[in-house]
Amino acid sequence: MALNDAVDWKAELGGGVRAALIVAGSFRSDAGTLFGPVPRLLWDRLVADEIDPEGRLGQALNCLLIETPAGRVLVETGIGERVDEKVRAMRAYEGPAILPALRTAGFDPGSVDLVALSHLHFDHAGGILGADGSLAFPRARVVAQVDEWRHALDDNPRLQASYDQAELRLVHPWAGAMAADGDVEVLPGVSVVRTGGHSGGHQAVIVRGTEGTLAFIGDLFMRPWSANPRWVTSFDDYPLTSVEVKARLFARAAEEGWTIVLSHEPRHPVGRIVPDRDRYRYVPLV
Ligand SMILES: [Zn+2]
Repeated sequence: MALNDAVDWKAELGGGVRAALIVAGSFRSDAGTLFGPVPRLLWDRLVADEIDPEGRLGQALNCLLIETPAGRVLVETGIGERVDEKVRAMRAYEGPAILPALRTAGFDPGSVDLVALSHLHFDHAGGILGADGSLAFPRARVVAQVDEWRHALDDNPRLQASYDQAELRLVHPWAGAMAADGDVEVLPGVSVVRTGGHSGGHQAVIVRGTEGTLAFIGDLFMRPWSANPRWVTSFDDYPLTSVEVKARLFARAAEEGWTIVLSHEPRHPVGRIVPDRDRYRYVPLV
């Protein structure tokens, strides 16, 4: 998959708040699953140049490093380095993982004060631990929603298949204790907003500077076509919630001109959202 220069995207949000896109590698997902209830006739042409012979799409593992006067926040950790060759091949996972990607971008993982996770699926929470099982971000608080931890460790077979529960159990004793319950400003200017939808306790991360707002809406907004609130993936455990929450968040994002960073878009990961008939349209900035 060709990643463009957006890998180096950075923005000043004002008031000492800065954001940098860090791409922690890529993997591949079944296209039909990503488009969920949408008939192939409607999505085929959108991905004609990127769908592979197995019917899969390349998915970037987009993360953000947010610098604020109060501390550094990493949003998402990608798949990480604790996957064996079988899983790596099955997912078509290619690095660099978050730790080398951060270092290449000039950030010391030891300087991260807080890790905010939109949810705990393997492709977002996989990098909490380093390859040897040590803490990848030794001084960071790890913030997911209380509800997300509850869903992630549930014994429902569908949920067991969605999460790497063995890995999550290793970090739950300490990370679970730091979980957010609802909408919380985790550092001045950086808030988590509980959305649910894609997963039981999914959250968005909203960053406010003096000159602009940036939103990472996690897997509720993974690719440009997610701008239609009705287009939800088959991975969404609560699709009706996804539709409702997307419509509400997108209305605000359009009205206030938020910069949006998409969770899995490889080519145009940063953009804005504009109203378009009864839905919204994603307009790439890079
Ligand atoms: Zn994902």
